[in-house]
Amino acid sequence: MSQQYALEVLNPATEEVVATVPGADERDVDAAVRRAGRAQRTWAALAPADRARLLRRFAAVVDEHLEELARLEVREAGHTIGNARWEAGNVRDLLDYAAGGVERLAGRQIPVPGGLDVTILEPLGVVGVIAPWNFPLPTAAWGTAPALAAGNAVVLKPAETTPLTSLRLAELAREAGLPEHLFQVLPGRGDIAGDALVRHPGVAKIVFTGSTGVGKRVMALCADLVKPVTLELGGKSPNVVFADADLKTALDPFSFLDNSGQDCCARTRILVQESVLDEARELLADALAAVVVGDPADEKTQMGPLISRRQLDRVRSYVPDAAPALRGGAPDGPGFWFPPTVLTGERPDGRAATEEIFGPVAVLLPFTDEEDAVRLANDTPYGLSGSIWTRDVGRALRVSQAVRAGNLSVNSHSSVRYWTPFGGFKQSGLGRELGPDALTAFTETKNVFISTEGPAQ
Ligand code: NAD
Repeated sequence: MSQQYALEVLNPATEEVVATVPGADERDVDAAVRRAGRAQRTWAALAPADRARLLRRFAAVVDEHLEELARLEVREAGHTIGNARWEAGNVRDLLDYAAGGVERLAGRQIPVPGGLDVTILEPLGVVGVIAPWNFPLPTAAWGTAPALAAGNAVVLKPAETTPLTSLRLAELAREAGLPEHLFQVLPGRGDIAGDALVRHPGVAKIVFTGSTGVGKRVMALCADLVKPVTLELGGKSPNVVFADADLKTALDPFSFLDNSGQDCCARTRILVQESVLDEARELLADALAAVVVGDPADEKTQMGPLISRRQLDRVRSYVPDAAPALRGGAPDGPGFWFPPTVLTGERPDGRAATEEIFGPVAVLLPFTDEEDAVRLANDTPYGLSGSIWTRDVGRALRVSQAVRAGNLSVNSHSSVRYWTPFGGFKQSGLGRELGPDALTAFTETKNVFISTEGPAQ
């Protein structure tokens, strides 16, 4: 690995240096892609049952190291230990699920006259996965597991601040018996290693998870080589609460506080029907005051720090001291802490109500009726997720159909299951990850016609 620059990994709860990791440059990326290309050919030539067996073994090795991976996630990303265990478990489950797809990745037979027509789903080759820092383990695995299962090699570039769990995953893959260089992890700066991966002609597809701004740039670069790209980008998701809802559950602040709000699916626009606005404000104030913010390694902690000083400064810029708001508490001293906050005096077109803050901050906005709720919910360039709370089934269905977003939940705040599709409408993304079709996104469809005509007499 290049020694030209290094990445310093900080513990966001203490600001202590956890590790220093060499950063990859263009030459490192080129060498990794070439090695991956050779490994991919060996991998694709294996019997499907053998590839599936190796991926299941990889899942088992991840399972054996679940606690270690979770503790590493706590140290480098500041996630609560409970969340970090879920995230490591998500990697295991996804590998298992993808392994189940290897022998089911079937093409089609299409009726044609004079012969037989079949489609073959071929692997793409080398896939580049670029991951963000907010969910380092899951976002790395969402692209990697189905890509490997479909017969591809993967070069993964984790975020600058959180390379450690990904590096460990690559070691575990080798321990499980995956071929050398099939899954490589290259920590590095986005504008150096990430850019080189996107531009590399030997990389057949890019899976990018990150901000909408960088995603647009990645897509433009991919266009130059007509390279397919999956984009999982930002969000500003609504939590639509009608007056007839179970208000306490609907206004659970973890709908936007999970992972300290650094969650692309965070329901950061709390839209509440006017008639219950006062009650909603009281419920939210009580709930925010009760949130346990502190040492993420402590089992009782519900919310940890933000990832970095940069992110803390960014979040602060949306919340002036004098802003009308409901606020919880946060520790003083070292670490990147920000208290749970709901802004109550924001205009629907204001900065905090329209931009992705990516911190524990939501805005509370009233609506009058169903039409007004749908208008407000859709009044954003994003379309990733959202919740709809009402006991009226017809209304729940109408609003689900009217809201332009990829992942909605009715009377629930859940968004992500590895066996259901996930992705954004509008500027929240392009393509879908997870779910039953995840492997197909890492294949090319080849159509072959075989004539049944006999030799000319
Ligand atoms: P980011 O866009 O700054 O960085 C994401 C990744 O891209 C990092 O690995 C970074 O190094 C790399 N990168 C930066 N510049 C690059 C370039 N020019 N070329 C290639 N790669 C480059 O995002 P972030 O701050 O790390 O993550 C937060 C963002 O990710 C938020 O907007 C969040 O909503 C989004 N996100 C989306 C999903 C989803 O599934 N939709 C999931 C998690 C996070």
